[in-house]
Amino acid sequence: MKNTIAGIHHITAIAGNAQRNYDFYTKVLGLRMVKRTVNFDDPGTYHFYYGNENGTPGTILTFFPWEGIVGGRPGTGMATDIGYSVAQGSLDFWAERFERNGVKVQPQTQRFGETVLPFQDPDGLNIDLIVPREPDSRVPWTTSEVKADAATKGFHSITLTLKSIAPTASLLTEVFGYELKGQEGDRYRFITPAADTASIIDLVEAPQGARGLNGGGTNHHVAFRVPNEEVQMEFREKILSRGLHITPKINRDYFYSLYFREPGGVLFELATDNPGFTVDEPLNELGTHLKLPAQYESSRAAIEKTLPALNS
Ligand code: ZN
Repeated sequence: MKNTIAGIHHITAIAGNAQRNYDFYTKVLGLRMVKRTVNFDDPGTYHFYYGNENGTPGTILTFFPWEGIVGGRPGTGMATDIGYSVAQGSLDFWAERFERNGVKVQPQTQRFGETVLPFQDPDGLNIDLIVPREPDSRVPWTTSEVKADAATKGFHSITLTLKSIAPTASLLTEVFGYELKGQEGDRYRFITPAADTASIIDLVEAPQGARGLNGGGTNHHVAFRVPNEEVQMEFREKILSRGLHITPKINRDYFYSLYFREPGGVLFELATDNPGFTVDEPLNELGTHLKLPAQYESSRAAIEKTLPALNS
């Protein structure tokens, strides 16, 4: 469907210790590290990408791990909850696994008729495991401990917390092509008809809520999926025509990006499906090498010395 956003592409958050982040996401949560690179704007810092086997858009959670960073505070003007889709019957496995690994977990709850298990990652990032009403047919990455009947399949949703939802809701419906599908209390659910998965954005209205502060354990931005650069640039024109500022196209090696701050204060990105994570590593070796963008390759030795060691 042309000119409709095809759901979430990736979500990027901030972590502290790199090893702790790597261990949690690859071992406890059982995701695949699909790319180990550096922050293109700060090459002394890692940029980790976790996802399914291919790093398919809609499964990719990325982190900038900054050792010793002060913890942030989730609040208004921020993406505050990441939702992962899991299979029916798997939440008891996860609750027990989290308990055994010292993960902070909240009691299961219901949202729009779906069961939700909220937990925090080691930096305090809020994540929900959600059993979707419609079965999710995406094939998950599996490990010896997290098998196909429990493994996360990719994103279910992202929740944005806002002082007032109206300006963001109008951007989502008028520019992105999302539709308002339900309301529960202060939570409004928007879904794009252009995707079957990773298609949900929940807006939570919190007029009295304190403003979020970026730091460890908070989300940095949410990237939305466009098939290619041509469609991406059409969206750029529409966003400009609403009087918003948006960057030029930036090459992130694995996708092309545009960034803009939506009217509620959340940093959004539009990211292309092309070229994907196999552009510089074969599929079976994804995430096993430190990959650097061309401009830093000549400084590889110095960069490798600066980055903390990572044991897999
Ligand atoms: Zn991004």
